[in-house]
Amino acid sequence: GLGVGIVGLPNVGKSTTFNALTKAQNAEAQNYPFCTIEPNKAVVPVPDKRLDELAKIVIPNKIQYSTIDFVDIAGLVRGASKGEGLGNQFLSNIREVEVILHMVRCFDDGNVTHVEGDVDPIRDIEIIETELIYADITQCEKKIEKLKKQSKGSKEAAAMLVVAEALMKHLEELQPVKTFEDKENELFLQMDKELRFLSNKDVIYGANMDEDSLMDGTNEYVERLKEHAASVNADVITLCAKIEEELVGMDDDEAKELLTDLGVEESGLEQIIHKAFDKLGLQSYFTAGKIEVRAWTIRKNTKAPQAAAVIHNDFEKGFIKAEVISYNDFVTLGGEAKCKEAGKLRLEGKDYIVQDGDVMHFRFNT
Ligand code: GDP
Repeated sequence: GLGVGIVGLPNVGKSTTFNALTKAQNAEAQNYPFCTIEPNKAVVPVPDKRLDELAKIVIPNKIQYSTIDFVDIAGLVRGASKGEGLGNQFLSNIREVEVILHMVRCFDDGNVTHVEGDVDPIRDIEIIETELIYADITQCEKKIEKLKKQSKGSKEAAAMLVVAEALMKHLEELQPVKTFEDKENELFLQMDKELRFLSNKDVIYGANMDEDSLMDGTNEYVERLKEHAASVNADVITLCAKIEEELVGMDDDEAKELLTDLGVEESGLEQIIHKAFDKLGLQSYFTAGKIEVRAWTIRKNTKAPQAAAVIHNDFEKGFIKAEVISYNDFVTLGGEAKCKEAGKLRLEGKDYIVQDGDVMHFRFNT
């Protein structure tokens, strides 16, 4: 479930974006031998300059970044929830992911047909989001049927039925689960965990612009999209999918030059990856040894033993203490030995909440 699903109408630039992500995956593939390559999934390294800084000090054999999974969910069209195209199958793929990257066409190009006839980002968004709501209505209907039967013998089912019916009323007004007023309700949370409502997922809008608009940083379509996104509290990342594909193919200096020309620090793809990492509620801690300098991915608020388990289960079972150096100390003082001398290496116990950027070494019993 720790993934990002790419959705959008046909011909908006999903495949182009997904190809760029796949290239980013393949560029690092030799470092991730454990990842099986699947046609519709890209396991993408999360760029992190801090790892590069650590590597300058430690000089390891290799650097390994955190990764996130992007899944290409092609085939969503108007009517998908009624089985148009391969609709229902694609909708169930979205259920599996935690965050949605919704690609939106913000470019004019007479050679690229638009399935709806013209370019209109807000209408396009509504088409997709309405399909997600319809799919949730179907789920909710089924659940209500079940709960009606169960509620005769179960108070809890009866209580959940009340919540489900309120949610149904909300959905029938074509409002997404996201804006349901009773979202803190324990019974709703239980239902969402089971049914994984599509219209309750965090959305990042990817505004796909043409090359010229990218130079200007925006265009009229993007402005409308941003206005809409602000009203529903969602993020917009602007990019030109074609340029992103070129960028991942360039060497570092070339890429940097192009980004400077465009007046941005990070490519659109990097912005998407970082935003997604954050929306997934993830952060990294580091290990810094001669063999590798590596980022390990944990949920925010993870305690030391559970963070250790990401490396190996035995590290959690036999956990004694964690040696911790803050990233800033490690880099400012110039490595572990110097941090130790300066009293900047802390010993932390099993209740320590690992902080983003901690450089860790675990002591454990075997
Ligand atoms: P998908 O159907 O959403 O996967 O869209 P594709 O990625 O296949 O793109 C559809 C068409 O639009 C292709 O011919 C792309 O080359 C073109 N396209 C994608 N991104 C851009 C862009 O930023 N600018 C222009 N001019 N064309 C693009």
